[in-house]
Amino acid sequence: MHLSNEQIWDQLSERIRQRISPDGYRRWFSDVHVSDTTSDSITLSVPNPIHQFFIESNYSALLSSSIEEIYGSFRTLHFIPRELQEQEQETPAAPLPSTHSSSSKKSTHSTGLNPAYTFENFIVGPNNQFSHAAALAVAQAPARTYNPLFIYGESGLGKTHLLQAIGHRMLANKKGAKVIYLRSEQFINEFIDAIQHGTLFQFRKRYRQADILMIDDIQFFAGKERSQEEFFHTFGALYDGHKQIVLTSDRPPSEIEKLEKRLVSRFEWGMTAEIQPPDMETRIAILQGKASQLQINIEPWVLECIAENILSDVRRLEGALMRVAAYKSLSGKSLSKESVDHLLRDVFQQQTRKNITVDQIQKRVAEHFDIRLADMSSKRRQNSVAYPRQVAMYLSRELTSSTLKEIGECFGGKDHGTVIHAYKLIKNRMESDASLRHLIRHLDKQLTK
Ligand code: ADP
Ligand code: MG
Repeated sequence: MHLSNEQIWDQLSERIRQRISPDGYRRWFSDVHVSDTTSDSITLSVPNPIHQFFIESNYSALLSSSIEEIYGSFRTLHFIPRELQEQEQETPAAPLPSTHSSSSKKSTHSTGLNPAYTFENFIVGPNNQFSHAAALAVAQAPARTYNPLFIYGESGLGKTHLLQAIGHRMLANKKGAKVIYLRSEQFINEFIDAIQHGTLFQFRKRYRQADILMIDDIQFFAGKERSQEEFFHTFGALYDGHKQIVLTSDRPPSEIEKLEKRLVSRFEWGMTAEIQPPDMETRIAILQGKASQLQINIEPWVLECIAENILSDVRRLEGALMRVAAYKSLSGKSLSKESVDHLLRDVFQQQTRKNITVDQIQKRVAEHFDIRLADMSSKRRQNSVAYPRQVAMYLSRELTSSTLKEIGECFGGKDHGTVIHAYKLIKNRMESDASLRHLIRHLDKQLTK
């Protein structure tokens, strides 16, 4: 059965119309159409990101079940907000001559890059400046600076954005550059497909002729031995051919479990850069950037309120902004503190920490370092106990609402100066010591889970 995009939208919109109010349909779906379909996905073109956000958060179950009815099987749903695309076309990336913009536009489309994920739209802060600089260097001089470039950091901190920005910039710099971006699961699925259909030759050819191969979320290679083996050879062929490789993951190469040693060592050949959670100023700057990119006008105090309450994940920052924007455009009212709190109640709540006690922290840290709990409050100064104690003091200050004095008391009656000293010591050391950063984050996660 082959349906044109219009026919699919006819069928889909019919089903939506039957199930939601005429008013809801008019508001959210009257200006939507199907812009692309593949064997496993459908792309809806929507007027702007607010529509996308609203449809995704309210109607995705309805859409999925309607699509399943039409095709008899599941399809992934993608959205393209037209406003963003148009803006992109009007304002081509700074260094590219305007004649290139339309051609690069077409090629970005076929490479599956999100048009909004450019360097221009990426806010640089102390948390990501290193990764940003490395990404920029790679985009300007592929395979001549860092190869591979390996960017890691927790979810929602901008890894995919940076990766795709490299792709956009390379296409802008060199027309017809072979830019390949994909997620590691796609590599794995296509590889399995190629084995089943006897098309390994084409599979290999496709990836080995890239000027740049970017694989996102490489941690999903864990335990996939044959895919790892295949990728090892792809990597070798590209590297030897002086082609650029960029990879991302939620953790550094050495911490990906069930990843072959030889791959870990390849991944560490070039540059490994971490993205950390943004600080308050960067969070505000990201929200401002996003609001102006979407041409929505949100009061500065609202942006601050969001930035104060959502501490790390940029994706959630954006979600909160969209929700506020959707409310504003629907109600036409200006925002009050109550309405913002109400709108974002659930988002904010997820962020508030469970009540953790200094006791719990001491126990967990003592277990981790395999020392006696009593050593947390002893006066022994050997590094083997002093260091874990400092880690526990640091976490107590970060995770509990106890005062410095109270914390000191829990550690065998130390004064508040000792606690500050320990806190600063660990904080400074975290800046240069990645394994300590990971340890702290690991403990933090276990404690707040
Ligand atoms: P990750 O791949 O690390 O999970 P993404 O790259 O998907 O994160 O980022 C999540 C969202 O946050 C995206 O919409 C992205 O544009 C946005 N984002 C993340 N970091 C920044 C930044 N520094 N400036 C602007 N937008 C950002
Ligand atoms: Mg990502």
